[in-house]
Amino acid sequence: MSWSGGPHGAPEPGAVGLAARVRAGEVRAADVAEETLERVGRRDGELHCFNVVTADAMRSAAAAVDRLVASGADPGPLAGVPVAVKDNLCTRGVPTTCSSKMLEHWVPPYDATVVTRLVAAGALVVGKTNLDEFAMGSSTENSAFGPTRNPWDTSRVPGGSSGGSAAAVAADLAPLALGSDTGGSIRQPAALCGVVGIKPTYGLVSRYGLVAFASSLDQVGPFAATVADAALVLEVIAGHDEMDSTSLDRPVEGLLDATGSGAGGLRVGVVADFLADASADCASAVRAAAEVLAGAGAAVEEVALPELLHGLSAYYLIAPAEASSNLARYDGVRYGLRVDGDDVEQMNARTRAAGFGPEVRRRIMLGTYVLSAGYYDAYYAQAQRVRTLVARTFARAYERFDVLLAPTTPSVAFPLGAKTADPLEMYLADLFTIPSNLAGHPAMSVPFALDPQGLPVGVQVLAPALGEVAMLRAAGVLEAGAAPGARGPVASRSEAGR
Ligand code: GLN
Repeated sequence: MSWSGGPHGAPEPGAVGLAARVRAGEVRAADVAEETLERVGRRDGELHCFNVVTADAMRSAAAAVDRLVASGADPGPLAGVPVAVKDNLCTRGVPTTCSSKMLEHWVPPYDATVVTRLVAAGALVVGKTNLDEFAMGSSTENSAFGPTRNPWDTSRVPGGSSGGSAAAVAADLAPLALGSDTGGSIRQPAALCGVVGIKPTYGLVSRYGLVAFASSLDQVGPFAATVADAALVLEVIAGHDEMDSTSLDRPVEGLLDATGSGAGGLRVGVVADFLADASADCASAVRAAAEVLAGAGAAVEEVALPELLHGLSAYYLIAPAEASSNLARYDGVRYGLRVDGDDVEQMNARTRAAGFGPEVRRRIMLGTYVLSAGYYDAYYAQAQRVRTLVARTFARAYERFDVLLAPTTPSVAFPLGAKTADPLEMYLADLFTIPSNLAGHPAMSVPFALDPQGLPVGVQVLAPALGEVAMLRAAGVLEAGAAPGARGPVASRSEAGR
């Protein structure tokens, strides 16, 4: 009873269809759980999407859903739908490692709000997915527990930092996953794995229980095989949470409906400056996407927004600055690892040297430097001015456009090891995703094309704050106009030993 179609021949594929069948009593959540666990067992040794699989908890959640259905109660909009959760989201009683030695054995005493909401909606948590350590990276190679592989071509990276979540959906190990996006960590791996990924408006989704990286940029969001599935998850996880003081207090509605309501009358700006910095395949996918939107009745125009390209430099000062402060809490006393020393200072230094990998150490040093007296104005304050410039550039553009269209990434999935020796090369993978984080805006990646090697190419739809409805309208049209085979799951291809 695969959610991607199969023997039951579901009229509606994906999570939306699966939940409908579970609620109608046509499919048992218990069977979904067994099939999922069997699939994960078969594929995950090679791919390493998961740091831990919570089989027992998944089985009991499935049994609870089936009991509700049997009693005539409604188990919720995600009834019986498996979901993979990035391992920087707290799960009560289940290790939450951030793919770091620092938190390898840390077990949180509470669930992140997004996890609570998914479970309350009937979803079945499969396990915790691999990531770049503390979500710092673009390939999942910075995980302390080894990389995740891209299911489309296992010699390539899945992107990052939410690579395990993106690959799990692409490999059909779960129809849904959660990730976090500070500078592109949902959209970039979604593009490289041929799945849908949404970074919501800052504040739309609670960060309570998300292990903090850069608090002014971090946002939780969904991965799915279809735009409708991603919209449904966003409806479930979004909304005010008193446990997060930055959480917006306003109703969230109409997201799922928006995905099918067409692009008629939408004003779409194609970010010309991004096209020039993307590979030929990524740029031509955007041009083809622009034509699809125009064909659907949108008014499409190119727009020059060169200031957005400065976002990358500002991000790599602001994000490390916030990280250096957020990661000060891993001191050997309060969380996770402790390596003893002769005094507190030595214990602290030894713990941090043993617990953090090279990229995390680099960020902490960079961040501490740019915040230090004498350098603060030259680096941190200057970066904040650039952040304002990016926000103003967007504000001007959104006077004329409802959404912007751009490549998600400069290139398709690259080979494992291709960028590990050069941090700057790796940072450039987020050139087109970072501006939306700096502005707090929503943006999403939609699988749209295949390159000549058969690798997926994503296109990005950007919108102003709380512009999710317009963004999802455009995304729904792009999905319908995408090249055949451009989106995951790719289970059969890789299982055939591609
Ligand atoms: N790749 C970017 C970084 O390394 C973004 C990471 C993220 O969004 N979590 O910081």
